Amino acid sequence: MPSTIRTTTLPSGEAVPVLGQGTWKMGENARRHADEVNALKLGLDLGMTLIDTAEMYASGGAEEVVADAIAGRRDEVFLVSKVLPSNASRTGVPAACDRSLRHLRTDRIDLYLLHWPGSVPLAETVEAFEALKKAGKIRHWGVSNFDTHGMEELVSLPAGDSVQTNQILYNLSQRGPEFDLAPWSRQRGIPLMAYSPVDQGVLARNTRLEAIAARHNATAAQLALAWVMTQDGVIAIPKAGRQEHVRQNVAALDIELTSEDSAEIDRAFPPPTRKRGLQMI
Ligand code: NDP
Repeated sequence: MPSTIRTTTLPSGEAVPVLGQGTWKMGENARRHADEVNALKLGLDLGMTLIDTAEMYASGGAEEVVADAIAGRRDEVFLVSKVLPSNASRTGVPAACDRSLRHLRTDRIDLYLLHWPGSVPLAETVEAFEALKKAGKIRHWGVSNFDTHGMEELVSLPAGDSVQTNQILYNLSQRGPEFDLAPWSRQRGIPLMAYSPVDQGVLARNTRLEAIAARHNATAAQLALAWVMTQDGVIAIPKAGRQEHVRQNVAALDIELTSEDSAEIDRAFPPPTRKRGLQMI
């Protein structure tokens, strides 16, 4: 039985789990295919039903791993994929979406994101997303790697306020978004989706986090993840190709940070005191 994972609400009113599964670097090595599929399946069993992928990852290879993981259980899953900015035109978006649907072996994507801002006018991409919604190929759309200025521009466009999320680099090593983007998003009820929540594994080896985590019988990675998930309106999407990591990530939901923990975390990873440019990887 899937455990119940805390949820946050999209502007559409739909509830989505605050902990999902990333897939970058999956689908790159055929020898790892079965492990990756099994890790994602275990994540689904444990309630991490939001899966994040992209046409870019292994040039569709990650979407094929996801297809194998969700085979026979599509309705359990909230599927997120992304279109490259170079495909974000009126004709490029539907063609990219059809390719992703083929790789994913499904008839719909739940949330389709523009991977990062590019040179195609945003209004054209939004129009193409809205057309895909009408065609039933995507249920919702959103963006990724948009700073506050980009979000302001987006919501001022026709149908721009249909944006459901902004997926950004946000973790203890990258707290810049707390200064302006996070409050801006929270105020408008647009959840942030935090990518690289354990800083691609770097935070898993942080000794200061290890010391705090020890008080909870947890690992540094779990603490880093628990911290992201305590931020209001934030969804974390760690990538774990190992089942042991999948289990640990779900268990991180049970960590309750004390005020002492939070103060110590703030000393080790100070929150921003001024506006910083949004970082991306
Ligand atoms: P993460 O911060 O999720 O780190 C992934 C690494 O951490 C992997 O090496 C993984 O190991 C390891 N790890 C996971 N869980 C644990 C754990 N409990 N203990 C120790 N190590 C752990 O980085 P990602 O960059 O992968 O970000 C997550 C997802 O966000 C991506 O997979 C992708 O879906 C999305 N993303 C989106 C971007 C965008 O531009 N929109 C950019 C980057 C990422 P292992 O795999 O061996 O289990």
